[in-house]
Amino acid sequence: MKPPSQPFRRSVHIAANWKLNQSRAEAAAWMREFVAHLRQGWDELSPESARLLQTFRILIFPTLTLIEPLQEMARRARIELGAQDVSRFERGAYTGEVAAWQVREVGAVWALVGHSERRRIFGESDEVVAEKLGRVLDAGLRGMLLVGETLKEREAGRTEEVLRRQLSTALEGVEPADAIRLALAYEPVWAVGTGRNADPELVREAAAFIRGVLEEILGEDARFVPLLYGGSVNPENLLGYLVLEQLDGALIGGASLDPGDFWEMVKLGAAVHLRRFQG
Ligand code: PEP
Repeated sequence: MKPPSQPFRRSVHIAANWKLNQSRAEAAAWMREFVAHLRQGWDELSPESARLLQTFRILIFPTLTLIEPLQEMARRARIELGAQDVSRFERGAYTGEVAAWQVREVGAVWALVGHSERRRIFGESDEVVAEKLGRVLDAGLRGMLLVGETLKEREAGRTEEVLRRQLSTALEGVEPADAIRLALAYEPVWAVGTGRNADPELVREAAAFIRGVLEEILGEDARFVPLLYGGSVNPENLLGYLVLEQLDGALIGGASLDPGDFWEMVKLGAAVHLRRFQG
């Protein structure tokens, strides 16, 4: 008889979205301070914890111009860098655009796709988001797809319909084999950059729904896909999300700009990762 298979344990991801912030000098200073915390924290770990944390992921999404200058420091500290957006085009007469393969060339490992600020301010439709995700995966990057409802949609009882539409359109061309390079972030639009973080119970329900839809689309490979929460996360409220078994981390905007605060959140993420993988 086949032994029952172990449930797949997903790594915890703690990600910073710097949005349109940080000069080159500010970013380098942020990195120096954060890496000093990181080195000190990691030095205090037992060899077993250090081994288990090799799969814990710290991600930073700076503006494109900062990726190359930060690359060496990030590589040494095992921090993965990503682009906040990429073009839906590959090459050609598209003034101002930057292609997924170009951001990979300067050292990005990840790209965000479908951030609510891109959808809301720049009018990106689900179809555009799908094209961008395709470019990201074709370029060999890891893609983090963001989904979430507006307040109006939530109040109208349309949250599940919106999440299903966003997921099924964006993931239409994605092969189950791509699941290992995919991550999702549930970011209710009304919680992003507003200081009004979503109640963890509401997030648990939305995350369970998202996991179900993902499984319908990708089958059993859906279990490889980490799901993060984003929306006014800070060191005080993060743990309330990290303890949810449907979630695998957080995407943090405003509160990630302070390297000390981000370190506090990375420490919480690392502790939850260790608990997940120990025993
Ligand atoms: C974000 O930018 O993805 C985000 C969640 O921002 P904030 O943490 O500032 O709400």
